[in-house]
Amino acid sequence: MEPRLNCQIVQDLLPNYIEGLTSDITNTSIQEHLATCGECRKVLEQMTRDSQEIKVVPPKHINFLKKVKRRQLIIAGTSVTIAVALLIGAYFLFGTRDFPVPASEAKIGEVFQTQDGTIHYRITANVKGFVSRVSTHGNGHTEVYRIFEHRQLFTKEKESAVTMPESWLSTKNTKTNQEKTGIYFEGINKDDRITIWEKGMTIPQATAEQEAAYQKYLGR
Ligand SMILES: [Zn+2]
Repeated sequence: MEPRLNCQIVQDLLPNYIEGLTSDITNTSIQEHLATCGECRKVLEQMTRDSQEIKVVPPKHINFLKKVKRRQLIIAGTSVTIAVALLIGAYFLFGTRDFPVPASEAKIGEVFQTQDGTIHYRITANVKGFVSRVSTHGNGHTEVYRIFEHRQLFTKEKESAVTMPESWLSTKNTKTNQEKTGIYFEGINKDDRITIWEKGMTIPQATAEQEAAYQKYLGR
């Protein structure tokens, strides 16, 4: 074979030779040729360098992508955190929520007892739109009322008055015949309470007018 043809064949085989895909016999022939041919050695060097560069580049590329992804994740995570914080902040500042009316803002009036033993009382709070009143039977005997104002954190609209209860409480539960021991208005917490009546406290008897109004209310 002519040297040129040999070089062409060797150079065609070199990529597979570098990858270790050529047979032992072919390897021996290539090595014999390389020992005598500087041109093919240069080609082999170049190919080896190229293949190393190719082998080296992907990990760098992946690392770069990982870094980019990590940065993007950090940016995205931070953005989400800030957005959530802003939403929570906006909710607390501008969102409408239920606030318990403190005892200092509640007025208790018209406490009296009618002849049938029913205790009458009126709880008034100068707030807009109460949400609910809670009547609990602590220890099975006490009646606790609360008023919840529906408002924003800093926006207090004192437009309408809330008055409760609309029904009166008997000192004795007509269903269980269980004696009541106390009626309370509870403000912000259990320490913020107004005692409307407790067992042992004297309650003014209803006037003739109040008694008549109550009888009219009962439909008698
Ligand atoms: Zn050659």
